[in-house]
Amino acid sequence: MQKKPIADWQKALQNAFTELDQLCKYLEIAPSKLSHQTIAHQSFPLKIPRSFADCIEKGNPNDPILRQVLPISEELTDVPNYLFDPVGDQASAPIPGILHKYSGRALLITTGGCAINCRYCFRRNFPYSEFQLSSSRLQNALAYIEQHTDINEIILSGGDPLLLNDQHLHELIQSLNLFEHIKRIRIHSRIPVVLPERITPELLTCLENSRQKVIMVIHANHTNELSPQLAEACKKIAESGILLLNQSVLLKEVNDNAEQLIALSEKLFQFGILPYYLHLLDRAVGTAHFEVDRHTAIKLHQQLLKALPGYLVPKLVEEQAGAPSKTWINQNDSNRSPNQT
Ligand code: SF4
Repeated sequence: MQKKPIADWQKALQNAFTELDQLCKYLEIAPSKLSHQTIAHQSFPLKIPRSFADCIEKGNPNDPILRQVLPISEELTDVPNYLFDPVGDQASAPIPGILHKYSGRALLITTGGCAINCRYCFRRNFPYSEFQLSSSRLQNALAYIEQHTDINEIILSGGDPLLLNDQHLHELIQSLNLFEHIKRIRIHSRIPVVLPERITPELLTCLENSRQKVIMVIHANHTNELSPQLAEACKKIAESGILLLNQSVLLKEVNDNAEQLIALSEKLFQFGILPYYLHLLDRAVGTAHFEVDRHTAIKLHQQLLKALPGYLVPKLVEEQAGAPSKTWINQNDSNRSPNQT
């Protein structure tokens, strides 16, 4: 049988930067200007698609996009209350492949891979081999969904579900389409932002053919990530009838100022994307240097409320292990101590 040719987006993925020297050359930054750490790189490798590297300012070692993806020595610092599974994912897995935390919704760990390795990731230490949805586990996962008729929305997560090839994604969606009680399929993906080449006509056809409504929640943290290629991809996604939302993480020295957050909401809207969540950092081991304290987060959110119409203000939330939903953070919380969760 003839082997299927590799798609352009898969080639782009293969060409992602994985070595500091290549990246520095491309960004015109001397390696000595970066506090890169090889050990941090070994435990969670550097991985940056070229499209996303183009969002980094050339010659700027302090670029906010670069900060999100560069392994640095602070990741190795042992900080109290930072956990390997900060949001209690493992305790919420009734069977491998599914997380069932919240009423009415269940999440499929479709893959352990991502197109990029974000240094602040809450699942950077997640044991994917034990939990991801291998083909042998898929039937059990589908049986679980069939039995739980109170679930009306399936979230495709990972890793990044758009890393699945079209055939695999098509089969998964078609399987979910058989369940009458499933009303919506939500796709959580950073790929439109970091690898917009993935938004192909074949992918869009696959999503358009879903019987259930598809919602796509992308993940952008800074205006510089909103590239012309993403704008084009979003236009096509919206034309396919898919609702586009964005979630961001509040990150120190990346987007922890009101001007940037306001500009992000405005630009997302220009791209046809509604701001959905602004997350406090999940306290995963290796990410403490990104934390913005709760008090500062609330102050920033208040500035967004003043400056923007309500539909452009993302909900300020955090995820607490064992809680029955995301926890909304409001102004009254500012009375709590800055780092209290
Ligand atoms: S794309 Fe999402 S899941 Fe993957 S490393 Fe980044 S934050 Fe984590």
